[in-house]
Amino acid sequence: MREMTTAAGDHAPAPGRRLGSMPPALSTLDDEGLRRLLGGLGEPAWRARQLGDAVWQPFAGSLSDVRQLPGGLRNRLEAHLRFITASEVSATRADGGRTLKLLCALADGQTVETVAMVTPARGSSRGRATVCVSTQVGCAVGCPFCATGMLGLRRSCSAAEVVDQVRLAGQALHRHGLGPVTHVVYMGMGEPLHAYDATLASVRILATGAAISPRRITVSTSGVVPAIERLAREGLPVTLAISLHAATDELRDRLVPLNRTQPLARLLAAADRYAAATGRRLSFEWCLIGGVNDSRGQARELARIARRLHAHVNVIPMNRIAGSPWGPPPPPVSRSFLRTLTEAGVAVTVRDTRGNDAEAACGQLRAALEPRRELRPDGTLSAPRRTRTGSLRPGEAAASASEAGARVTAGVPAQR
Ligand code: SAH
Ligand code: SF4
Repeated sequence: MREMTTAAGDHAPAPGRRLGSMPPALSTLDDEGLRRLLGGLGEPAWRARQLGDAVWQPFAGSLSDVRQLPGGLRNRLEAHLRFITASEVSATRADGGRTLKLLCALADGQTVETVAMVTPARGSSRGRATVCVSTQVGCAVGCPFCATGMLGLRRSCSAAEVVDQVRLAGQALHRHGLGPVTHVVYMGMGEPLHAYDATLASVRILATGAAISPRRITVSTSGVVPAIERLAREGLPVTLAISLHAATDELRDRLVPLNRTQPLARLLAAADRYAAATGRRLSFEWCLIGGVNDSRGQARELARIARRLHAHVNVIPMNRIAGSPWGPPPPPVSRSFLRTLTEAGVAVTVRDTRGNDAEAACGQLRAALEPRRELRPDGTLSAPRRTRTGSLRPGEAAASASEAGARVTAGVPAQR
């Protein structure tokens, strides 16, 4: 697997489009950029602030919703600005109405998946609304258990397209009386560190524009070592989730093909340096595949690595995907794998794959946001509990539960 870092700025390559011909995306314009744009149209600087405020208003789906601006200016701006670079093709509600799975169309007709999930406040923990974003259309890494990997890489997303998935999800949550977005995880389609520039720029925009602190942002990677090292130098305390899946090179070469050129020793050293540089605790993702990476030997080795790096482990029983004979192990095997980890003193959470809407096609998006079950010291699992997510307001839970699984929107809004 060749090492690859795809620069994807505001204008991601869109087949058949001349890049220079597109007006700037609103999400990526900073205050100065907005002032320059409005100034060029003969408008005063305070109009720029009004437009800037509209970016994160969850009810503003298009320029025509920005009522603070006069109608004439809104019409003129249409030609000078892309208000949003993604549009909702469909939204599927699942999980008692607390999960919204969006299919988003980009300007060139490519689609990516975005998931929003809310967790009600409980006890002293505040409610959350987490959005899981895609950074690429497809993925070049080619992990054999992953539906996105099977697509191959079509292209990377631009920073605006990543940010606009969060805006679109915020708008969808708002329509259902949910939100605002509190957390973002880069666990959708694609390898975020292969779309490094777009990932980094989007994290910065979310932190400044949407006030989502980098500490509430998680970037998941299959292990692109040079990019992890670069990210460690950016001074951004984002949480890094490493998709480990195997604790020996022999097995990881098969499960995460990138490992053939960036083996475990290098990856773990880079991850360790990342944790030291940012002060953030690492987490390891482990897609548990029956008969493949569920042995006691792998569990023991994973426990050794996790303890050495003080990492948290998330075990995700594999979601079956079309074209792969693999699946999750039988429950007793999973339990024994998990017990080996907890007995070694490793902090483990399990993402439950039950109760989900089977037609919500993207296995990994679903897995990334599914309710988690905590593993008790005796090896049994707690009731499903959602983590990384937001609040349902009183009275909404029952209403949304009745709509669980319902397809709530359809149709492709006009692309800008
Ligand atoms: N490319 C990045 C981020 C996107 S994948 C990465 O690999 O980390 C997000 C998570 O979903 C990863 O941990 C990935 O291994 C996991 N995943 C992919 N396919 C899956 C499946 N079929 N079942 C369970 N988890 C899966
Ligand atoms: Fe790419 Fe992540 Fe899927 Fe592997 S698991 S193919 S890195 S999206």
